[in-house]
Parts: sequence; C-alpha cells; structure tokens
Amino acid sequence: MEKFIFVTGGVVSSLGKGIAAASIGKLLEVRGLTTTIIKCDPYLNVDPGTMSPFQHGEVYVTDDGAEADLDLGHYERFTNAHISKDSNITTGKVYYNVITKERRGDYLGKTVQIIPHITNEIKMRIRKVSHDKDVDVTIVEIGGTVGDIESLPFLEAIRQMRWELGEHYALNIHVTLLPYIKSAGEQKTKPTQHSVGRLREIGLAPDILLCRTEKHITKEQRDKIALFCNVDREAVVEAADVKCIYEVPLSFKKEGLDDLILKKLNIKREDKDLSSWRDLVVKRLKHPQKEAKICVVGKYIALQDAYKSIYEALIHGGIANNAKAHIIRVDSENLEKGKVDKRLEGADGILIPGGFGDRGIEGKIKAVEYARENKIPYFGICLGMHVATIEFGRNVCSLKGVNSTEFDKQVKNPVIALLEEQKRVKNLGASMRLGAYPCKLAKKSLSFKAYKKENISERHRHRYEFNNHYKKPFEKKGMLFVGMNVRKGLVEVIELKNHPWFVACQFHPEFKSKPDRAHPLFREFIAAALVKSKK
Ligand code: GLN
Repeated sequence: MEKFIFVTGGVVSSLGKGIAAASIGKLLEVRGLTTTIIKCDPYLNVDPGTMSPFQHGEVYVTDDGAEADLDLGHYERFTNAHISKDSNITTGKVYYNVITKERRGDYLGKTVQIIPHITNEIKMRIRKVSHDKDVDVTIVEIGGTVGDIESLPFLEAIRQMRWELGEHYALNIHVTLLPYIKSAGEQKTKPTQHSVGRLREIGLAPDILLCRTEKHITKEQRDKIALFCNVDREAVVEAADVKCIYEVPLSFKKEGLDDLILKKLNIKREDKDLSSWRDLVVKRLKHPQKEAKICVVGKYIALQDAYKSIYEALIHGGIANNAKAHIIRVDSENLEKGKVDKRLEGADGILIPGGFGDRGIEGKIKAVEYARENKIPYFGICLGMHVATIEFGRNVCSLKGVNSTEFDKQVKNPVIALLEEQKRVKNLGASMRLGAYPCKLAKKSLSFKAYKKENISERHRHRYEFNNHYKKPFEKKGMLFVGMNVRKGLVEVIELKNHPWFVACQFHPEFKSKPDRAHPLFREFIAAALVKSKK
C-alpha cells in the first residue's frame, strides 16, 4: 500500500516548503524508495499559465505540457520523480471538475458541497497520482499557510486521508519558523505554537516539525517546542538557513530526518550517505575554480522567482565546469534608454530568457546586437531566439520594418509570426504549443557538440515561431538553422557563422537541467563564457 507525507506550512509564507518537500524526496530516493511529489495550490486559477510573473514567479513546464507551479521545478531538480500534469492540483482544477460533473448530472438529487464533494475530488486526485506513478511514497505539499481560508478544503482532505490510511501510512510534516528577535537576543517559539494550534483546531496534528531558523536550536527550546506542540522531542527538526538550496538535503540528513521519516512510516531501508551529491554538487558549488560573468537580460529581473529555472540551470552549468556563474541581472527597459556598452560591459556571456509582450523588447534586441558584434557568447531562449532573428534581419540583412507579429501586427517583414495552429485559438488558458516535442540537430553544429546526439526532445511554451520565408535569405547572410522539428518544419535552434558561441532555441532547456546533470547547452554556454573570460 502506498504511503503519504503531507507537508504543510505555518507562520509565514516563503519558508521554502517546496525545497523541503524536494529535499525529503531526495533523502528517500537515496534510501532506495521511489517517490513522487504533488503540489496543491489553493488559488482559483486552473493553472498559473495566465498569471504574470509578478503574481506567481516562473511558470514551470512539464514534458506532458502542463503550465505549473515553480515548485515542480525544485522537485525535478532534486529528484528523479516523474512529474506531470496531475502533479499540480489547484482549487481551480478541482472546482472545474466538480462543477462539470454537476452540470452533467453526476450528482443527481444531491446538494453539491465543499465537504464531501470538493474534498473527495482532492483526495481522488492525490490518490490517483500515487496510484498511476506506482511509487513507495507520495509527498504532497499544500501551498499557502495554515490559517488561510483558501487552503481549508485541502487540509480537510488530508485530515480525512490520514484517518483513512492509519498509522504508518501517512505523516504530517509541518514547516514552521522560529523568528530571531535581535533586541531580545532570542529565538521565539510562540508563532510555532500558534500555528500548530491552528492545525489542531481543524483536527490535524504534526508528526514532525521542521523549524526554519537563523540560529541553532538549543536543547531547552527543543524540549519546549516538543511539549507545547505535542510532538516527540526527536521530531523537532532544525532546518537552519544554508548558503545554497542544494545543501538542504545534507542539512536534513545531518538532523536524521530520513531515519525519523522511515521510522514513523515503518519502512526499513539500509542507511546510505549523500556523498555523491555532496561532492558533485555542494563542494563544487562552494569552491569554484573560475568565474564567468553572465548577464541575464529580461524585464522581470527585479523578481527573485521570475526566471527561477534559468538561474538554476546557469548555476548547474557552472558546477559542470568547476566554475561560478556570476549572474548579473540587466533590465531590458534600461537598455532602451541608456548606453548598452556600459550596462553589458565585461559580460562573458549574455542570456535572453523567454517572455511575452513588447515591453523592453527593443532593449533585448540591442543586447543581441552587442553580443553578436563583440563576439560574446549568446544564449537565446524562446523569446531570446525571436529577438536574435529580428536583430539579424534588421542589422545583418538590412531589411526595413522587421519585427515579430506579437509586437507589430502589420509589420512589413514578419520574421517571427503566429504558428499556423494558433490562428484558431480563442481561449488563452493552456492553449500555447506546450510540452515536449522532438528536434533534429545538424551534425556540424555547436548544439550537436553539446548534446552529442542528433535527436533530442525539449519542452516548449510559445505561440510565435520563425517564419520560414526568411530561412534562405538569412542562411545566405550567415545564420545557421541547425535544429528543426522535421514533421512540422519548425525552426527549433539557430546559430551564427563567425561567432564563437551564438545559440538560440525555440524551446526551454532550463526546465531539464539538474545540479548533478547540467543541461548540455547551459554547460557549453558557461564553457564558452569561461573561454571569453580568459581572453
Ligand atoms: N512570446 C513568445 C511566444 O509566445 C515567446 C514565448 C516564450 O518566450 N516562452 O511565442
């Protein structure tokens, strides 16, 4: 029978529940268990696909084309868990289904209510994921903070599941905060007591408390938390701040969290250490031998989470090269006003990530021009490929009126245009070209050199695409079309002749990079940037 771990959060948001859930998954995998991780999001949107990064941070894309919460990215980076559309359960999806069933007449004669209909739908979805993926342990992270009105149905659903599953089959891990009050020189346990109190009001009790803290917890504090929160002493686990997120599994391991979980779930597995993770990831990350300065040019650079997977993939590329990717965030709108040379000065590599809308576009085009002319390694992703072709059309092919129809519907030379199938799209939710599609690489290309294979598969999220009408004239001027979706004739990767490393792709490689298995394009981009930095 499958076992479940429910991860809830208390006191404040942004405690790193997602990283905690991912790290727990990692620890269990190392002990030889198969896992999967689910994220429950209490908002009413069906998925985050139509939300601005200001609201939600990055939209993460899975192989099967889900536009999902960015925590799923942490799950995939830390573990080998198979993550798919069903791995993100939102209030929107749950209500949508229940209301559709109601209209169909499935509940004929009944009053449809939050309990049991909504809670049953939640339980059914959680159990289905665990069943379909056929894993030993399913970890379920409940978004939001205990005490929020929105998350109540999810918490009630897990309360019921716990009761149904019984001892040793379900576990609650509550992530909480011990704030440090400087003037008192003390760490406070009261907020944790209150948040456990809120859990108890709704019939839930934590089995393990993961205490986020700046300072180490003393024995007295541990005793106090255990007594007042009604948990075993050993179940008060310190989750002290660490320098990088990839250290979290190591810090949990040191606290014996894996042993504790196995004990509570009554699972016996041989002890294994995390030495390969420590050596391959954390040691290299903490002691880089070289450094490359990478400018990421985007319009959401002020936000920590908007380009989460991009930043992580750059870090992985650094790890693979025993180097540090020193990331400098450059606001593309500022490039429109000021001097490009000043802001991009000293860059060893320039990356333009995905994006939507015309704000800051001209600044991005200037950044491409700067990278192309100064032979600075350039990595363009999705919109980063679009701007690379626009720049090429304008400045190398000397065409007039070049743009994407995303930014100028009537443009004379639409080098980027709406995908044919997108012309029929009416609703904006989940209707882009999404998820994994194959791409064939030309053998004589930087991309082939990186992947070391011809046929690759990568994840997509776009509506616009290179206009093949411009392929021949662009080729004549030195653009190389090295990656194609053969079946549809879509351009997937471009490169430039006479440039040390200029690669731009229609897909999003950042979603498939892991700290111990850097994505080949990120690895090679950093390698090229390191060559530049030596010069
Ligand atoms: N806005 C562009 C499109 O829809 C690029 C999308 C992206 O960068 N993810 O095609």
